[in-house]
Amino acid sequence: MERINPTRSLGRDDLAVFVAGPGLGEGVAVALPGGGWLLIDGCRTGGNVGEDVPLRTIWSTWRRDATDTVKWMLLTHPHGDHVSGFAEVVDVVRPENIGMAGPPAPGRGLHAELSDWLTRQAPTEDSLARDQLLAAANAIRSWERRTGREVTAIHDGVRLVDAPASVIALSPSPAFAASLAAESWPAFRDRANLLSIVLEVAHGGTRLLLTGDLPHRVANSEHPEGWSRLVSAYPAACAPRGLKVPHHGSKDALHPAINAGVAPRGMWTTPFSKNREPLPRWADGEGLSQLLAVDAVKLTAPPRRPPTGHVRPGGEMTRAQLGAWLTAAPLAGFLADADDISLPTISSALSPVWLSVFNDRGDVVREECGDAALLITSEAPA
Ligand SMILES: [Zn+2]
Repeated sequence: MERINPTRSLGRDDLAVFVAGPGLGEGVAVALPGGGWLLIDGCRTGGNVGEDVPLRTIWSTWRRDATDTVKWMLLTHPHGDHVSGFAEVVDVVRPENIGMAGPPAPGRGLHAELSDWLTRQAPTEDSLARDQLLAAANAIRSWERRTGREVTAIHDGVRLVDAPASVIALSPSPAFAASLAAESWPAFRDRANLLSIVLEVAHGGTRLLLTGDLPHRVANSEHPEGWSRLVSAYPAACAPRGLKVPHHGSKDALHPAINAGVAPRGMWTTPFSKNREPLPRWADGEGLSQLLAVDAVKLTAPPRRPPTGHVRPGGEMTRAQLGAWLTAAPLAGFLADADDISLPTISSALSPVWLSVFNDRGDVVREECGDAALLITSEAPA
């Protein structure tokens, strides 16, 4: 595993994918061949180095010149773990377009509804998510005022970029986006994963699938607006060269046809640490084992903080080693973390990041990762 190198620039014709995820939240940055970027969702590092926003650092480090602007900033779905830092990034990168999932019909944007509701809502136990969502909604409003533009409603069929690489939205379906957008926000919040924007990025023979948190099953049954719709409507897109694994590798997000279609070494996964059973789960039969049946998994960071004092086996490890590391007893004499709600230890904005650069024939021509990232394999490393 080569360490991410901020001094090594990107070529103008590179298709580069950066996936960032420090343990709570995820952000994806795509440098398009010929110039221009997509920035999708967001996250922030924290803890011992203070707060930083990986997508802002990535774009300012690797933009190819002053004309290499952000064509789109997108929020796949309005959940706290995908919106963190979005406001700061909008203000700095000044995107040409902002997109959120929504139906094609005219009407108030989802972000306007959201910010109205959030402003009225008393702080809850999830006040951090609320603050982040509100900050994003406000930043989007000032972007609209400053530029005279409006947020674009993204749904199945919207073409965001044409050439030389194309970027097309495959989900949500317009009808489903309309039905969810008509619901009130508190009711809709619990189903917002289903609203996730899914994007196909295609360049020659290279296809990438960027997936938000779109599920396959909801409450143990296949959801008609989840992955089964995309697998039948877009079979070629569902056999990508690179897959940002949906919903932090949870079992219910994984569709067997998509897993089987991914070409080797193309699965990036971000963890979600904010509960007792963090994602992705590493036990037998859970998400990680299903992904490993296909290939190695590029995790941006461990799914929870390892016990104090335990040194990790290495950047590359098997699922069994990962499990042993994360469930080891805390060493005596150290102040152990009482729970796993905290983020894994991250040393910089580029720590929880995977970078993969593709040519237009589906080959990965450069691959690097930060010091918190892991490559999980099913067998012991050679
Ligand atoms: Zn998420």
